[in-house]
Amino acid sequence: MDSDILVSRPRAATTMQGATGYLTIDLAALGRNYRKLASMLAPARTGAVVKADAYGLGAERVAGALYDQSCRHFFVAQFVEAVRLRPALARDAQIFVLNGLQPGNEIACAEMGVVPVLNSLDQWRQWSAAARMLKRCLPAVLQFDTGMSRLGFPREERAELAAALGDGANVEILFIMSHLASADDAESEQNGEQRAEMSRIADEFPGFDISFANSGGVFLGDAYHGVLARPGIALYGGAPSAGEENPMEPVVSLDVAVVQTRIVPSGTKVGYGGAHVTQREMRLATIAAGYADGLPRCLGDRGAVYFKGIRLPIVGRVSMDSITVDISALPEGALTFGSLVEVLGRHQTLEDVARDADTISYEILTGLGDRYDRQYR
Ligand SMILES: *Cc1c(COP(=O)(O)O)cnc(C)c1O
Repeated sequence: MDSDILVSRPRAATTMQGATGYLTIDLAALGRNYRKLASMLAPARTGAVVKADAYGLGAERVAGALYDQSCRHFFVAQFVEAVRLRPALARDAQIFVLNGLQPGNEIACAEMGVVPVLNSLDQWRQWSAAARMLKRCLPAVLQFDTGMSRLGFPREERAELAAALGDGANVEILFIMSHLASADDAESEQNGEQRAEMSRIADEFPGFDISFANSGGVFLGDAYHGVLARPGIALYGGAPSAGEENPMEPVVSLDVAVVQTRIVPSGTKVGYGGAHVTQREMRLATIAAGYADGLPRCLGDRGAVYFKGIRLPIVGRVSMDSITVDISALPEGALTFGSLVEVLGRHQTLEDVARDADTISYEILTGLGDRYDRQYR
């Protein structure tokens, strides 16, 4: 979408009144990304990771759109997210809690029909106790640590788990899973190591379906797919493999309004701390988003925004609610009070901003603030 179109964007009834930033979430592109991954994964099923509010894009809208693409397996990180999402999804959609449950949440989880991922013998015992108390068989997923040392049954707990499974008929294991630590790097040795460990686990726990691949894992090939993949970032347009051309379609665009413009002579201090001193006469614009809106402070004197395809470098520090940019490259008067500049869009991708901010697309997406007018297309 051209910025000049955005300048005269009609105010829809859904518009958040007074917003100065416009976050557009393209649900059609999200659906195409899902179908692309699903066709690479078939006959394996394609789930969706919608933790952290679907990486900041709105879990209910995103999950609803993916349900329409016949996604039925939704993964959140924390039980509180499942509580919010459960009423928004049809009953035949399953919600899995990747972190599993904290003690005390078991009964509520069972009653909501949410499925915990059990990561340890402690979580196993609590869930099994809840099943005994409710006099029901409860569903669960088992996660094994294959080398990330973050979540999942460690090797030392596997024998005891196997024994518990033998007599724990009150917990039904839907599938087993593990998570790849370096799947975004096809060259990493860790991928093969984790795959080998996963096949040892499959031998020790025979007869269970396996869920393995995240976004990067989808692109590592069949050996990493299991029967149910759990992509996240690739659905939202982030690059699944670092340093390679991004095969996914962008889903998010962000345009922010200009609050003020000015001309300053050479030698003028700009922004907090006077950290930038102009080396020549400069035309500046201040735009209405800052680090409170998820534009990292480290973009100061590094990042840029765009207007009609022209790069406008950030000048000085990023403030909480605003950023100042150099608009000297534009014809005078091209950009004025109320104009919109592109932060994410056709000229600047999520990966571009992440690189300038020395971080990853995940952190940029999940940081996008709630002062933007969010429009779903
Ligand atoms: C976050 C997460 C995913 C999704 O990872 P992406 O890299 O975003 O595809 C999959 N599985 C687990 C266990 C996760 O924590």
